[in-house]
Amino acid sequence: MAQAGKPNVGYDDTPFIPNSEWRVHDGRRPQPRVVTPGTESSPAAAGSPPSDAVVLFDGTDLSQWVGRDGPAQWKVENGYMEVNKTGDIQTVEHFGHCQLHVEWATPSEVEGDSQGRGNSGVFLLNLYEIQVLDSYDNPTYADGGAGAIYGQWPPLVNASRKPGEWQTYDIFFVPAQFDGEKLQSPSYATVVHNGVLVQHYQEILGPTGHGGAPSYDVPHPPEGPIKLQDHGNPMRFRNIWVRRLESRD
Ligand code: MG
Repeated sequence: MAQAGKPNVGYDDTPFIPNSEWRVHDGRRPQPRVVTPGTESSPAAAGSPPSDAVVLFDGTDLSQWVGRDGPAQWKVENGYMEVNKTGDIQTVEHFGHCQLHVEWATPSEVEGDSQGRGNSGVFLLNLYEIQVLDSYDNPTYADGGAGAIYGQWPPLVNASRKPGEWQTYDIFFVPAQFDGEKLQSPSYATVVHNGVLVQHYQEILGPTGHGGAPSYDVPHPPEGPIKLQDHGNPMRFRNIWVRRLESRD
């Protein structure tokens, strides 16, 4: 695909996002405003999960995760896990409507740029990527920055911390519902990045992907694994937990 404007920051020949003036990964889409997040309560140590959470990673082992060919192989040390080019990992258990807390850090030594710099991702249902990226002074297409619903919705603001600093996502996810082949209600995500709202009960346009227009053409179950992406950068994660939510009747 050809890239628009400056090299490596976007595209001008991808499909239009449904009901949008912007193309997928549009290089002309405005960059989100930069907001400096408040200080971390404890930069050195992860917090602890609430009492009703399913703990997915407490800093010691990957027993809740599987990799491509069996047990997850990411490196675990010093209370965090680190991506090591052994592929994506996903949870053994499946989750749907949920609250998810994830802490992550991009490499303190900056390498690459745009999508090649500190890239990972948190996937709900293994289908919907909340982008993880080193977006600190790192221009890329707006719908691919940290906190973006990848390829659809830029974050409302860019609340990124500096490379190497621990960052937090608190994600509130409502899965799409289908009646047979027919979409009944779309997925929604709320995302808080370092204490700053970056997606506000945002309607998602379909499973995310690179370069294609999203749609709900293919029905999916209401639950699925949570996946963390190995995009080749040595990203770190810690203190991951999830709470199952129920609809209020
Ligand atoms: Mg990614």
